[in-house]
Amino acid sequence: MFQQVPTAPPDSILGLNEAFRADPNPEKINLSVGVYKDEQGVTPVLKCVKEAERRLLESESTKSYLPIDGRPGYDKAVRELMFGADHEVMTAERGVTVQTPGGTGALRVAGDFLADSLPGRSLWLSQPTWPNHPNIFTAAGLPLKTYAYFDKANNGLDFGGMMEALKGAAKGDVVVLHGCCHNPTGIDPTPQQWKAIGDLVQEKELLPLLDFAYQGFGDGLSEDAVGLREIARPGQEMLICSSFSKNFGLYNERVGALTAVAGTKDEAGAVLSQLKKVIRSNYSNPPTHGAAVVETVLADAELRTMWEEELAHMRNRINGMRKLLVEKIAACGIEQDFSFIQDQRGMFSFSGLNQMQVDQLRSEMSIYIVGSGRINVAGISEANVDRLCEGIKKVLG
Ligand code: PMP
Repeated sequence: MFQQVPTAPPDSILGLNEAFRADPNPEKINLSVGVYKDEQGVTPVLKCVKEAERRLLESESTKSYLPIDGRPGYDKAVRELMFGADHEVMTAERGVTVQTPGGTGALRVAGDFLADSLPGRSLWLSQPTWPNHPNIFTAAGLPLKTYAYFDKANNGLDFGGMMEALKGAAKGDVVVLHGCCHNPTGIDPTPQQWKAIGDLVQEKELLPLLDFAYQGFGDGLSEDAVGLREIARPGQEMLICSSFSKNFGLYNERVGALTAVAGTKDEAGAVLSQLKKVIRSNYSNPPTHGAAVVETVLADAELRTMWEEELAHMRNRINGMRKLLVEKIAACGIEQDFSFIQDQRGMFSFSGLNQMQVDQLRSEMSIYIVGSGRINVAGISEANVDRLCEGIKKVLG
C-alpha cells in the first residue's frame, strides 16, 4: 500500500539545516534556522534554566499525568508575563490559558478550536509570514487570506497596504498578528500603528490572534508587549499563542501556551472547556518539564532576575550584531544601503537578497540563508561577519 505514497518535499527551513550539516566546508555559516547562538556559535542552556532544573530534580515526586490544560500555576504566570499583574484582563479574570507543546502546538490548538467552535471565518496572514503558519492553519481546515505587510521598495512596513487589506475582512474574521519581532521580516508596527490596528480590529469586529514567540528579543519584556496590550482593550476578545522556545532557550522541551481572552469570565470558562476538548483528542495532555522550568523561574525572585539578565544579554548581542553587520557592509565597499537591518527587531532580518543570490551564497560560499532572503542575525558573530560581508559583496556583483 505504501507504494502509492509519494515523498513529501523537505521543510523549507529545516531542510536547509540538513544540507548545512552535510556541507564539508570548515568555514560554512548557518543563518537559516531560527535558533539563538552565542558568540561561539553555541545555543546555550540558560543558567536560570539549569538552576530551576536542579531544584525540580530534587523536588519531583511523581510522573503522573498533568491535567489536560497543563500545570496549575503555569497559566496565571504566562498571562502575567504578557499583560502585567494589574491589567484589566487579569482583574476581570477574562483570560484562560492552556499549556501547549511549543508555540506551534498553541497555533494548532487555536486552529482546531476556531474550526470546531467558530466555523466559517477566514484567517488572515501577513504577506510574508512564518512558512509554518499556512501549514498549520490549512491542516486545521481554515480558509486563508493574506494582507500586505512588507514594503520591498523601502524595506519597511507597508502599513497602508496592510490596513487597506484588513478593511476588506468580514466581521468575525481572524487576523494573525506577530506580537513582536515579525518573522521573517524583523519589521514591527510602531506603537501608533498598533493603536490604529487596535481601532480597526474593534471597529470591524475582527478576532485578533497574536503569535507571540519572541517576547523580550526585541526591545524588552514589556516594550515587546506594547502591541498586545494595545489590542487587549476592555472587553476585546483575542487569542495569543506564546512560545518559550526562544526567550528561555527551551527549544527541544516544547513549551508554549494558548491564551484566550473572552468578553467575560463565564465566556472564558466555556472557551477553556472547548480548548480542553481539542487537546484531549490531539495529544491528551502536555509534557511537564519545560513548563515546570518556566513556572519555577518566573515565580522565584532570584531566578527571575537571572533570566531577565540572560534574556537581555541575548537581545543585546543580536542588536549588536545588526549594528556590526551594517557597519561592516558599508566598510567593505558595498554601496547599497543596508542600514534598515539596524531598525529591524528580533532574530530575523529580511536582507533584500533574492533567490538567485541566496543560491549563489550557498553554492559558492557555504553560507546558508532562507530562500526569501531571511537571515538569522543570531547566527552572526565577530568571527564570521567578515566572510558574510565578502559573500554579500560577491553576490551583489
Ligand atoms: N511562531 C513564530 C513566528 C515562530 O517564529 C516560531 C518558531 N520558529 C513559532 C511560532 C513556533 O515556536 P515553537 O518552536 O515554540 O513551536
